[in-house]
Amino acid sequence: MGDEALYPARRLAVAQRATAAAGLDALLLTPGSDLRYLTGYDAHEGERLTCLVLPAEGEPTLIVPTLERPAAEAAPDTGVRVVDHADGTDPYPLVVAALGGPVAAVGLADRMWAEQVLALRAALPGVAQRLASEVLRELRIRKSPAEVAALAEAGAAIDAVHRRMGQWLRPGRTEAEVAADIATAIRAAGHVRVDFVIVAAGPNGASPHHGTSDRPIGAGEPVVVDIGGTMASGYRSDCTRTYTVGGPAPAEFADYYAVLHEAQRAAVAAIRPGVSAEAVDAVARDVIADAGYGDAFLHRTGHGIGLDGHEEPYVVAGNRRPLEAGMAFSVEPGIYLAGRHGARIEDIVVCATRGVQRLNTTPTELIAL
Ligand code: ZN
Ligand code: ZN
Ligand code: ZN
Repeated sequence: MGDEALYPARRLAVAQRATAAAGLDALLLTPGSDLRYLTGYDAHEGERLTCLVLPAEGEPTLIVPTLERPAAEAAPDTGVRVVDHADGTDPYPLVVAALGGPVAAVGLADRMWAEQVLALRAALPGVAQRLASEVLRELRIRKSPAEVAALAEAGAAIDAVHRRMGQWLRPGRTEAEVAADIATAIRAAGHVRVDFVIVAAGPNGASPHHGTSDRPIGAGEPVVVDIGGTMASGYRSDCTRTYTVGGPAPAEFADYYAVLHEAQRAAVAAIRPGVSAEAVDAVARDVIADAGYGDAFLHRTGHGIGLDGHEEPYVVAGNRRPLEAGMAFSVEPGIYLAGRHGARIEDIVVCATRGVQRLNTTPTELIAL
């Protein structure tokens, strides 16, 4: 098992059985993580239809624009029959034909474009449309050893970027200037794509999804740096560290950073099979609330990660699902004081048979540059 490929061909048969078990006649998967998970094909998203037609029984068919047939055939060999449609012709009859007969219900890729959803509804009148995640969630939520290795490779790559932060992060430079250097480094570290670069200094640090701005970073300001990208494998990185630059941070900041550090450490330490996702969230939240910062932790503790940057399992109140070995997710509590500053610490972890495996290994202490 440990030597199995990252995109094993047997996944199609596994998904077919799960499709039948879910009471669906087929999955229809347009470009995105579901299609890639089953075929390894990193398909181009565009107005021309690419769609894997995976009947619960029978032969799968990958429908592609003629101009993308070479790319589709170069994808990892999953033995899928490729059928192409010439530019300007209607591809939807090919979907109907590939289904191989009348169907009652199909599962659509969760993130399919609405124009494709509606075109499929017109091509398959009366056929119930459901979400492919009904089938694929349970397959994707537990990572194989090869997937864990791919996520570990991504984690090591983003860690290498954080280790270089002192080269770029200085008072007087703008967040956007620093972010441009980081983006170059994310690619240089082995990612094929930069997914996001958050450089949030001073008051901007209180906005969890800030991004960047042309505001120069001030001396003594805390800076939240949350960065991630996609590796050639398709698997993603996502790691946040908080830095101080050019002098000591405000005293209150150092106080609540210590609280945050303990919250993140305790949440990671609580992870093992059988513990619920919401219990991990509660561990982090209780530490922060007990210190009086409960209202300042304004998001869930974490999200799953894999071929998508955010996927199941979500580490959030209400998710009673017990963790299982192979589940990969972030642990990223934050404390945000509007108009002043903020902090977040984020690691990707994998629930292991005994305990937890951390995929980010740079120190989580406040880093003074
Ligand atoms: Zn986020
Ligand atoms: Zn992040
Ligand atoms: Zn994250």
